[in-house]
Amino acid sequence: MHYFSLQRLVWAVFLLPVSFSIYAQPRNQVTQPSKVAPTSQTAVSVVRKAGLPNHPKLVVGIVIDQMRYDYLYRYYDKYSTGGFRRLMDEGFNCRNNHYHYAATYTGPGHAAIYTGSAPALNGIVGNEFYDRNLGRLVYCAEDTTVETVGATGTAGHMSPRNMLATTIGDQLKLATDGRAKVVGIALKDRGSILPAGHAADGAYWFDSKEGNWITSTFYRNDLPQWAQDFNAKRFPEQYAKQKWETVLPLDKYTESSADDQPFEASLPGEPKAVFPHEFVTVAGMSKFEVLRTSPFGDALTKEFALAALKGEQLGQDDITDLLCVSFSSPDYIGHSFGTYSIETEDNYIRLDRQLADLFAQLDATVGKGAWLAFLSADHGVADIPGFAKTYRIPADVKASGEVSEGVKKALTDAYGPGQWTLSYFNQQIYMNHDLLAEKKISLDDAYRVIKRALLKQRGVINLVNLHRLGDEALPENLAILFRNIVHPNRSGDFYVLLQAGWFEGRSKGTTHGSTYSYDTHVPFLLYGWGIKPGQTLRRTRIADIAPTICALLGILEPSACIGDPVEEVFK
Ligand code: ZN
Ligand code: ZN
Repeated sequence: MHYFSLQRLVWAVFLLPVSFSIYAQPRNQVTQPSKVAPTSQTAVSVVRKAGLPNHPKLVVGIVIDQMRYDYLYRYYDKYSTGGFRRLMDEGFNCRNNHYHYAATYTGPGHAAIYTGSAPALNGIVGNEFYDRNLGRLVYCAEDTTVETVGATGTAGHMSPRNMLATTIGDQLKLATDGRAKVVGIALKDRGSILPAGHAADGAYWFDSKEGNWITSTFYRNDLPQWAQDFNAKRFPEQYAKQKWETVLPLDKYTESSADDQPFEASLPGEPKAVFPHEFVTVAGMSKFEVLRTSPFGDALTKEFALAALKGEQLGQDDITDLLCVSFSSPDYIGHSFGTYSIETEDNYIRLDRQLADLFAQLDATVGKGAWLAFLSADHGVADIPGFAKTYRIPADVKASGEVSEGVKKALTDAYGPGQWTLSYFNQQIYMNHDLLAEKKISLDDAYRVIKRALLKQRGVINLVNLHRLGDEALPENLAILFRNIVHPNRSGDFYVLLQAGWFEGRSKGTTHGSTYSYDTHVPFLLYGWGIKPGQTLRRTRIADIAPTICALLGILEPSACIGDPVEEVFK
């Protein structure tokens, strides 16, 4: 159904009692019977707030890659009033918003925010995952049937085809007969493609090889003129010539530990992880790739978003448009330098300024009160174990291979030589079902063999049998996180649950991907059209974001949505 006819229907129903009351008056009192029923125009004018449309002109979805919830408050005093604080102070703040599944990675996060669903149904169970039908690892946004647009390499062989459900943008397209414009933007392809969805006009991401914004033939055969013009300005070239220096004097970084820490990872080509950081091309890695791990990545993303806003005329007519912007640099920076680094604090201070500029430009081009924004993150992050240990907090790193080699040995000891596992990925063991069947060994038996071995390993707290979640003695909140990642063709059989604070395979820096609160607790802020200031501490889920936005727009929620609108927002 057409978006406006849907609106008309809504208001027609709303006005029914009024109409009845007019026609219910005694005939002799009706001296001038209405010649026409109320039109949608008059209907709308009855309820429209002065100067505001009856729907937002533009929805801006903002995802901050790796933004943990506490960053909103830890750096609050350092933020301007126009960025994060504009959303926090003048918008609605869901302060206890968590991921509802175990795979807290970038691809799943972006997909879940915009589909209102879970990996079990939207199929994005990891950035990469083992696909049993294909018999290989699959990248979440890969698509070998499309070509790169705007560059020569393979960085554009991407599309949302692996995502098995609709997004907010897809629903907006359906509701407007395709007239809503939907655009996705992020340095990371998956941060742009998955939010924008299947029916998007375009998704754009950054090709580090040549330093250009690109897309794929899934969307179009050429870069739009505005994107070509933007690339021609060569911003990355200018940024890479500069150094990343702190925006404040070093002693003002009171929310961080000292700059030089042994557990931080340095940028490629740098001997030490200290300011100022420089961008150099090192063996096999372009300086534009290094640029991602700096605030220049956020600046580049915001500038490109503003170019899209103008070039695509977003929010300039009566049809609601959607701009999905994901800031990827906080993730790269967080992985290298950690949660209590000056680099992270500096980046958030600068990102706040980028957001303030973005919001000011939205006021100027779309109009204050005419745009609706939501902000969240695709996952949180663990503190660097080396840092946690300075507070005697239990945390450590398992070398990569420790788990998978242990599993292989246990299975070989029990059943003899053979390729018993197909993959160990995203903390999940993918068993070779064919070989088990051939040797008449049950999954349950293999599970017991592996569990016995892994529980002897340091940092392993449990092995969760994803086939028998009903039988697992797990805290209720945790059981749901596992249930929501079970996609039999793409997820593993057994999940290796590590202790809080532990992760695998990174000797310096940190990561995410666990079921613990530092990975699941992320912001969910709403601001602008239709939003009154307020907050809730009730536990909300990432899956609630999409249905909340869809309820505000009066459109159907995405196809595989499992969340609910946050009711407090509508009170
Ligand atoms: Zn991420
Ligand atoms: Zn990450």
